[in-house]
Amino acid sequence: MASPIWKGDMTPLTDPFGRSFPYLRLSLTEACNFRCGYCLPDGYQPSGSQYFLTVDECQRVAAAFAAAGASKIRLTGGEPTLRRDFTDIAAVVAAVPGIRTLAMTTNGYRLQRDVARWRAAGINQLNVSIDSLDPRSFAVITGSDSLHQILDGLELALTLGFNAVKVNAVILRDYTDHDWQAFLALVRDKPLELRFIELMQTANLSSTMLQQQQSGERLRNRLLAAGWQPVSKGYDDGPAEHYRHPDYAGRIGLILPYGRDFCDSCNRLRVSARGKLHLCLFGTHGVELRDLLQQDEQQLLLLARIRQALKEKRISHFLHEGDAGITSHLAAIGG
Ligand code: SAM
Ligand code: SF4
Repeated sequence: MASPIWKGDMTPLTDPFGRSFPYLRLSLTEACNFRCGYCLPDGYQPSGSQYFLTVDECQRVAAAFAAAGASKIRLTGGEPTLRRDFTDIAAVVAAVPGIRTLAMTTNGYRLQRDVARWRAAGINQLNVSIDSLDPRSFAVITGSDSLHQILDGLELALTLGFNAVKVNAVILRDYTDHDWQAFLALVRDKPLELRFIELMQTANLSSTMLQQQQSGERLRNRLLAAGWQPVSKGYDDGPAEHYRHPDYAGRIGLILPYGRDFCDSCNRLRVSARGKLHLCLFGTHGVELRDLLQQDEQQLLLLARIRQALKEKRISHFLHEGDAGITSHLAAIGG
């Protein structure tokens, strides 16, 4: 018999524009050991309480979203793998009925050491951020001298039976073009997806970093000219565009938040490491959930609060107008 706590509105989460939200990005920490110039250029500076969501709170968030139709959860941060209980969190979230895809995004620093444990805990999709394949450029961008170690970890990950292994690269004027051939070589033989992401403005992004911004349309044109073919989108693919080429084992994705219609296919919500619901990466406020994450019996109230908040979701971000909302950097909210 179903538990009484699930008697209530279990219809999928939707917003006033008819979008539904099968995908939750759950941030586990704001802390990070890297200093990416567009995210935490001075390194992580703790502020306020460092009491991030507990294993039980993560389980309750996941269960509530799954009960309202979410089938995919991404664990992110900050750097989620800095949490000592990262695999415990992965295991409880993976066990939530209805969650078919448990993804994570990592800077890859602990990949080589821990990826087999993450896989065993139930992670079945892995995103590793690598903005440059040149060790010196990588160190300049991230403040970390660990490119070789991360690439070795990536090789290992490809042997572990993940449903998908993806590499995220932020498009940077001084680096992406320079590394283009190396990026293509990465997907020639490896069955991974390389995703180029337009650099998004955040409240703390410096003017120097802003100069690194470059439109991803150039990459789209370059791919099409070189014989890459667009792949039609699946039901829950979200805003990424995908391209394939017969000579390449991997595929390329483009995430162009400054492109037209980007928000039309928005399918994700975010919960921050402090337990706030964010309707958009570039929203104006977060909705407190933590008071309703303390007992299983509160989960109907939790879902009701999420549904109420969704009525306020805006049709689009306003990045084009230079409005990055309250997000100081993506590590604060879960990129
Ligand atoms: N620390 C992990 C990592 O770097 O993969 C997870 C968190 S990080 C905030 C998630 C993703 O957001 C990374 O791929 C990162 O490159 C990207 N990111 C961070 N700031 C960004 C920005 N301003 N514009 C575009 N992407 C950004
Ligand atoms: Fe850390 Fe990821 Fe931000 Fe880089 S992008 S500083 S790795 S949280």
